[in-house]
Amino acid sequence: MPSIDTWVFEKWEEQIDSFIDNDFGVPCTIVYPSRRIPCTECSTRNKLGPNRNSHGGPMPFNFHQCALCGGDGFKEEEATDNIQLRVYYDRRKFRVINGTPIEIPDGMVQVIGYLRDIGKFERANHFILHKNIEGLGTSRYKRDSKWVPHGFKKNRYFICNLIRE
Ligand SMILES: [Zn+2]
Repeated sequence: MPSIDTWVFEKWEEQIDSFIDNDFGVPCTIVYPSRRIPCTECSTRNKLGPNRNSHGGPMPFNFHQCALCGGDGFKEEEATDNIQLRVYYDRRKFRVINGTPIEIPDGMVQVIGYLRDIGKFERANHFILHKNIEGLGTSRYKRDSKWVPHGFKKNRYFICNLIRE
C-alpha cells in the first residue's frame, strides 16, 4: 500500500497536470531562432543558368530580381513548435524564483510546464502565448529568468518567468 506521502504527491501532481492540460493551461507556440537557408528558386536557376527561370519560361531574368528572396540567394526560415503551459498573468500569484524582480514589471508572466518539454523550451527564441482564456489576444514573449524545477519532487515540472517583447 502506498504511503500517505506518496498519495499526497500523486494527488498534487494530478492536479497540476490538470492545471496545465485542461483548466488553466494554454497552447503556446515556440519560435526557434531563424535559420538562413538557400533560396529554392535561386538554386534552381543556378542549375538552369542565369537566363532561365524554374518554369522554363522564355522570360530572361536578372538573378538579383528573384521574387522569392529579393536576390539574396537566401531566405530566413522560422521553425515553430507547440507547448502546453500554465500561464500566470497575475503577479500576486507568482512564485518567487531566482530572477524574479521585487518590482514585477508590466508584461511579465510566469509559466509552468512539463520538464519533458524543457529541451524545446530552452531552444526557443521567443514564445507566442495565446491568451485564449484571458481574451487579450496574442503576444510575443521571451525568457526572463532561468527555468527551475518546480514541485515537490522537482522531477516533473519547471517554472520560468517570461517578459512581453
Ligand atoms: Zn531567390
